[in-house]
Amino acid sequence: MSMVFCRGCGKEIHESAPTCPHCGAPQSIASTQGKALFSSYDQVPWYRKNWFAIVCFLIFTPGLLVVLFTGDVYYESKGQLKTYSKGAKIFLIIWSILYIIGALSRG
Ligand SMILES: [Zn+2]
Repeated sequence: MSMVFCRGCGKEIHESAPTCPHCGAPQSIASTQGKALFSSYDQVPWYRKNWFAIVCFLIFTPGLLVVLFTGDVYYESKGQLKTYSKGAKIFLIIWSILYIIGALSRG
């Protein structure tokens, strides 16, 4: 059993609780963001996790591009599941394309 922090009041609650028992705030990320498919970082597949994006960023840039184009990258902050912002994704996509072009032209 693991605990998460309420998105409303910040108190510790059980990760599977649909609403906070202290303040009643809904806890499902899907209900507030629409796009997110997971309610905790443990449910996120490894290829959608922050560390995998960083590994791709460092050693396999085309992989990062595929990850970014096919969905969101998730990370955990203060017990909350978050995704890369649109701005961060666009920056990484542009950076990846420039990197690949650079690598090809050195060929
Ligand atoms: Zn609460």
